[in-house]
Amino acid sequence: MTQAKTTCPYCGVGCGVTATIEAGTLSAVEGDREHPANYGRLCVKGSALHETLGEQGRLTHPRVDGVEVSWESALSTTAERLNAQRAEHGNHSVAAYLSGQLLTEDYYMANKLFKGFLGTPHLDTNSRLCMASAVVGYKRAFGADAVPCNYEDLEEAELVVLVGSNLAWNHPVLYQRIKVAKERNPLMRLVVIDPRVTDSCEIADLYLGIKPGSDAYLFNGLLAWMAKRRKLDTLYLERHTEGVEEALAAAQQTAGSVAEVAAACDVDPERLETFYYWFASQLHVVTLYSQGVNQSASGTDKCNAIINCHLAGGKIGLPGAGPFSITGQPNAMGGREVGGLANQLAAHMDYHTPGALDLVSRFWATDNLTPILPEGPGYKAVELFEAIERGEIKALWVMATNPAISLPDAARVRAALEKCPLVIVSECAAHTDLLPYADIVLPASGWSEKDGTVTNSERRISRQRGMLPPPGEARHDWWIIAEVAKRLGFAEAFNYSHPWEIFDEHARLSGFENGLAGSPKRLFDISGLVGLGRKDYDALAPVQWPVTSQAPQGTARLFENGEFATANGRAKLLAIKPQGPVQALSAAYPLRLNTGRIRDQWHTMTRTARAPRLMNHRAEPFMDVHPDDAQDAGVVDQGLAVLSAAKGEFRARVRVSNAQRRGEVFVPIHWTDCFTQQARSSALIGGITDPLSGQPESKHGAVALGPL
Ligand code: SF4
Repeated sequence: MTQAKTTCPYCGVGCGVTATIEAGTLSAVEGDREHPANYGRLCVKGSALHETLGEQGRLTHPRVDGVEVSWESALSTTAERLNAQRAEHGNHSVAAYLSGQLLTEDYYMANKLFKGFLGTPHLDTNSRLCMASAVVGYKRAFGADAVPCNYEDLEEAELVVLVGSNLAWNHPVLYQRIKVAKERNPLMRLVVIDPRVTDSCEIADLYLGIKPGSDAYLFNGLLAWMAKRRKLDTLYLERHTEGVEEALAAAQQTAGSVAEVAAACDVDPERLETFYYWFASQLHVVTLYSQGVNQSASGTDKCNAIINCHLAGGKIGLPGAGPFSITGQPNAMGGREVGGLANQLAAHMDYHTPGALDLVSRFWATDNLTPILPEGPGYKAVELFEAIERGEIKALWVMATNPAISLPDAARVRAALEKCPLVIVSECAAHTDLLPYADIVLPASGWSEKDGTVTNSERRISRQRGMLPPPGEARHDWWIIAEVAKRLGFAEAFNYSHPWEIFDEHARLSGFENGLAGSPKRLFDISGLVGLGRKDYDALAPVQWPVTSQAPQGTARLFENGEFATANGRAKLLAIKPQGPVQALSAAYPLRLNTGRIRDQWHTMTRTARAPRLMNHRAEPFMDVHPDDAQDAGVVDQGLAVLSAAKGEFRARVRVSNAQRRGEVFVPIHWTDCFTQQARSSALIGGITDPLSGQPESKHGAVALGPL
């Protein structure tokens, strides 16, 4: 029997896991007591990890045009067909769509191949669906995509505010940490702001059941309230920020009295003012926000409305204080770090970052190869599939994700995939809704098989460790990308034998000429991890970036000295004009649709559905409906019903619930056509996105309810 330390592959908490291997199988998991994300805790999903493994249902052989082939044939064909499309239609005709499930090393390789050597900017990721608005919000305010806080701040806060986050279900270990902290500190308060009464309300001191999409009204109202009550930290604002007057003017213009804001948010004015008082009178406040804020056509503005209030009160850069975006996926952060968004170039640098193109080009150049970097951003997720539909993108490589299910307006996505001349899919599962569209299928290794790193929501880089051999002929993603790159003629730039070499290059790029005159200055810098070598990489302990020669043990909290990553070092408050959902309700579609996760499932259930005990919580798709809406529609609790939207239908069992606001319906995102042809939530969501972040408005659909 041996034991190995790794991390959970599900949510952005990034819990440490100790796995036991016996007789060639992974027989048990327990929480890693030394990992700072969870100190031994695991939620029900994490504790069932060993029950989700095994060869059954795995993709084990490469296929080309539906026929099993050797790896040599699959790799050569991939390279030949990619080159053929480029030769005929240009570099920008090829694209990649990645995933927050990939390890950082896999992400780095894909970004380097597509942007650096295939010369296309069209590489985006499913992380676009999860946290793109939070990224833009941070960049606009701080000058960098940088989460200022850490998990200990949640325990040290006097007030924790959950906005658009059912933490108890979606990031359960963090919820448990807050619960324990509250038990230890009776003065600590929790406020939950969410249209639904969720399990996260169990320990809440105050619940505000706001109208969907009204978050920016609420936080603009808070900013105006703080100004009126002289609760602004004027010294902090004066020393460390800019844009205060404009932000205040916008807040005062759009948010009148507490009663007016309460009416706009459809909440009780007294409860709203209680929240305002609590927020304004505590210095140690953490606001934790997630998809309920991000998945909106104005998600970026909502993020900045929250950040404004923290800056205005000086509630940042301190223990127990800050605006904290919690990511959904295990490695959404790692993907951002290598440049895995279409608007990024590499290593947290954007195309418009002065000097970035030259720096990355010089760094990736070899003796005989010069990168051919695109000069501007590529298509964001929804735009990417629209470009495929138009026939502009001719070749797409999808890795570790299923856009045929998860993207809004999935029927349109499927039609686009159908007409795309070349679809390559790297995947672990043998049966997904995407695979029928693939010309080339490449079997990939999965959790417990692959080696690399991930970054969790508090900027903590941890190792995921390979403990078992991949089944059949499955191979690691980094290896597949490198082998295709070699066959494309880029062998000199993709000569790696182990992920530690890729990580080392990634670390070197992060610090390459950082801080030198004329070079782009980056907050994301892990040059302190350069030169680890295989042994130290294998033993790497969890560490929070930046990791530099000045901070060799990492950095727990950012902006403690009030200096931000903007050109002038000042944080920026933004003038926010609140907007409601873009998808309008109508007589035909009178109900507001909300989508989200359930406690025991992950994404499209390819892993979690394999553990019978995880199916016990919710064994089938459902819709949560307010009793009055159920009565109006003629549907009953536990009866079957249909939700209709402009784009499609969703059929499932009704759960009549007072936790729903009147006029709103909630459905889970997990069920795919592999389980049932009728309960795919993305069929109900249109392709409306935030114009700044490109994140789809998945929380604000418009539907009609009726009996089946
Ligand atoms: Fe895994 Fe998230 Fe649960 Fe931790 S909280 S065990 S990372 S699913």
